[in-house]
Amino acid sequence: MALYVYKFGGTSVGSVERIKAVAKKVKKVHDLGDQIVVVVSAMSGETNRLVALAKEMQPQPNEREMDVLLSTGEQVTVSLLSMALHELGCPACSYTGGQVKILTDSSHTKARIRNIDDTRMRADLSAGKVVVVAGFQGVDENNNITTLGRGGSDTTAVALAAALKADECHIYTDVDGVYTTDPRVEPKARRLDKITFEEMLEMASLGSKVLQIRSVEFAGKYNVALRVLSSFTEGKGTLITYEESQMESALVSGIAFNRDEAKLTITGVPDLPGVAFKILGPIADANIEVDMIIQNIADDATTDFTFTVHRNDYPRAKALLENGCAELGARKVTGDDSIVKVSIVGVGMRSHAGIASTMFKTLAKEGINIKMISTSEIKISVVVDEKYLELAVRALHAAFKLDQEIES
Ligand code: ASP
Ligand code: MG
Repeated sequence: MALYVYKFGGTSVGSVERIKAVAKKVKKVHDLGDQIVVVVSAMSGETNRLVALAKEMQPQPNEREMDVLLSTGEQVTVSLLSMALHELGCPACSYTGGQVKILTDSSHTKARIRNIDDTRMRADLSAGKVVVVAGFQGVDENNNITTLGRGGSDTTAVALAAALKADECHIYTDVDGVYTTDPRVEPKARRLDKITFEEMLEMASLGSKVLQIRSVEFAGKYNVALRVLSSFTEGKGTLITYEESQMESALVSGIAFNRDEAKLTITGVPDLPGVAFKILGPIADANIEVDMIIQNIADDATTDFTFTVHRNDYPRAKALLENGCAELGARKVTGDDSIVKVSIVGVGMRSHAGIASTMFKTLAKEGINIKMISTSEIKISVVVDEKYLELAVRALHAAFKLDQEIES
């Protein structure tokens, strides 16, 4: 007998018909004698609808009340799914996050899970019931309802799988797995059978939206076998796992990209201790996330400093930088909000040389100018003009032979 946690995203429970289809799928597992905990998201569009309602009341909604509101989306789907299971003659019981209970910290709208009490779930499972848990929510020490941030149901599922020591955690979504890149940009993109936690983490933070980043961190930390599958088609999906020797034949596993980037440069900055802090301190204080940072080598005792931010934050970041320019004794501030970031990701980079040069050669051949470069152990990112995004992704996809099956 196995224990599974299945998570169904918003489109998988987006209508009465779809919820009924999920119930059938769950019943099949139950009928085989396996134990199953199901986590669901709100119906697709529901969380956005609730956010919009809140903003009509208060432009900056009170965060505690926001969580009370947002958590209702998932409360609808757990109860409906449980009813659908009852209707099929499958015993089931639904719970909100707070009822389980999933204890979180008190950071409303972005709470982190601290502890999960599995007593009630275990009792239900032993009694032969399907346990249906609302994703994306918990309660803090004072019993205030909290939510885990957008996409948080993935994290609920992985956390429950870790707490229950489930055999596998399945994330059912509207794509049939993790792809080498976004198939809308490169139709030759292939579904990966396996990807490592580390690669998945990079892909997720670089813009691939298949899983919430925190769920992947969680799965890696607690060694939860995590599988991404489609709820609409049959298939094995993609297994997210630890590094294995058979994966070593792939140098690059995927290409991620992010369209919403902007870059800012401040030139002629005096090359003195504390300057980076003076430039980036006010940006951090304004809660603006900075991604790539480059400081040039100094000649004539001044240096240039460039960094990227999310495109939405560009006007604010530029204004802050311009304000500080005179005080810093810098020359001028320039910026560009029509750039994108393209990254290649693969654990194979650790043990193979020449990957960066293949990347740069490929972009050069297409006449694509690289504006910034940053690397980590398992990824190389470049910033290029947004008009080259599709071309860069396709050229790199071909150069690293991602359209071909890997021989193992
Ligand atoms: N319903 C929430 C959202 O849309 C949580 C989730 O679906 O994972 O972000
Ligand atoms: Mg989601």
